[in-house]
Amino acid sequence: MKVFCSITVIALVIFLTPSLVACETSAEEYAPVTYSLSVDVDGAENTVKVDETVTVVNSFREGIDRLVFAFYPDAFTLKTPPPVDDVNISSAYPYGINAGSYAFLQAGGKDVKSVSLCETPCKIVVYLDAPLSLGESTEITFSFDLTLPLCNTRYGYNDFSVNLTFFFPVLCRYDENAANTDGGFVFYGYESTGDPFVFNCADYDLTLDCPSSWKAVCSAPETGKDGNKRIFSADALRDLSLFLAPDAEITTASKDGYTVKVLHDGSFSYAAEYAVNALSIYSEYFCPLPVKEYSLVFTPFMTAGAEFCNAAIVSDALSLSQTETTVAHEVAHQWWYSLTGSDQVRSPWQDEALAQWSTLLYFEKRSMKSYADTIRKNLSTAYKDYVATQKALGENADCNVFRSTTDYRDGTDYYITVYCKAALALDTVAQSIGTRNLCNALSGYARSYGLSYADGDDLFSSLDAVFAGAGALLKSALSSTLL
Ligand SMILES: [Zn+2]
Repeated sequence: MKVFCSITVIALVIFLTPSLVACETSAEEYAPVTYSLSVDVDGAENTVKVDETVTVVNSFREGIDRLVFAFYPDAFTLKTPPPVDDVNISSAYPYGINAGSYAFLQAGGKDVKSVSLCETPCKIVVYLDAPLSLGESTEITFSFDLTLPLCNTRYGYNDFSVNLTFFFPVLCRYDENAANTDGGFVFYGYESTGDPFVFNCADYDLTLDCPSSWKAVCSAPETGKDGNKRIFSADALRDLSLFLAPDAEITTASKDGYTVKVLHDGSFSYAAEYAVNALSIYSEYFCPLPVKEYSLVFTPFMTAGAEFCNAAIVSDALSLSQTETTVAHEVAHQWWYSLTGSDQVRSPWQDEALAQWSTLLYFEKRSMKSYADTIRKNLSTAYKDYVATQKALGENADCNVFRSTTDYRDGTDYYITVYCKAALALDTVAQSIGTRNLCNALSGYARSYGLSYADGDDLFSSLDAVFAGAGALLKSALSSTLL
């Protein structure tokens, strides 16, 4: 996600030969999970019927006895406060806070003993009849109805669009070495700060039944039709998000093998060029993406934007320069989130600092170095002003980067630390080792961990692989005050 910011910087070293090596996908973390979804949208009632079949091959360990899913519509029922930071609550719910709801008609499978449905908020645990052997598969089915909340968040409907992101049970990432797992699965609630989505890539197909006049874009390309129903499918997606709009235009643009679709009210066709240029630049300097279709959705939104696999929401209330900055940032998340997974809850700086720095790269390569410098300066000023203000108030302002999203005082602390300080720390590395070396290191990072998962040490190692000591340099910059 991008809380709006503007950045700033310093002179970048001229890029020399960019890396043109295609990303090699690692199967190490890629659990062979397949989702088949049937989604029936009633636009008049703002309800959605979903039938879901998840096929899971046990690639985790011998004898797993449960499968743990995240079901985030539960976060919007108001059983608990809505998952929105205090500073964004009025823009998230401009018509007042209202509840979404859901009802499960069925949850189970032939190998299922019992199912715990959201006894812990947003968490579904499917207990199996008998432990599953390594390599053995099982099929879990869910049928449920959703009533969407009216809000400008990632999930729900607003004046313009229906945003269906993380709207169905998603299998949690398996990591038996992580802290606080449930049978080895890492579950996160829908936290109000940052992006709580940490999942492995999976294969998806989705059949959509909605009014034929409605425009739709999805993380997976549209691959066919079944009567009036639209079919979307793709392998190895980080998530599957779907956006619908009854009265929308779709503008497309293409470059270097990529096609961008912009879902908008007629006012944002120009943004398609921003996105194809960003895709082109990042592909050249990092690596190409496996899926060549990307979508932007311009809609009322609580912050500047939010990233999803092969798609992003961008607020329809930004200035021209904010729009280009946000598009460049969100497109960068295709490398730093969607392709290269990381723990956005425990290590939120990792993808956000890279997306911020990639935005600087975008403006540099678009021959707008002065604007990149303005962004750098604004990031630095925002950070320094925050620290000075907190100190004047007698508050702790250490802006420790190595915190989980749940450990931040508020959204401002999070924004200043993750989007400003961590990005500036990465930029100091660029100045020290050269932009070309940093790009090559990030290219190696994406190639090594593409469609997989990386922690902070993996990023440090990728830097060291290109420039000895660069990993320690970044770690030191992230740990310093940068004042
Ligand atoms: Zn972001």
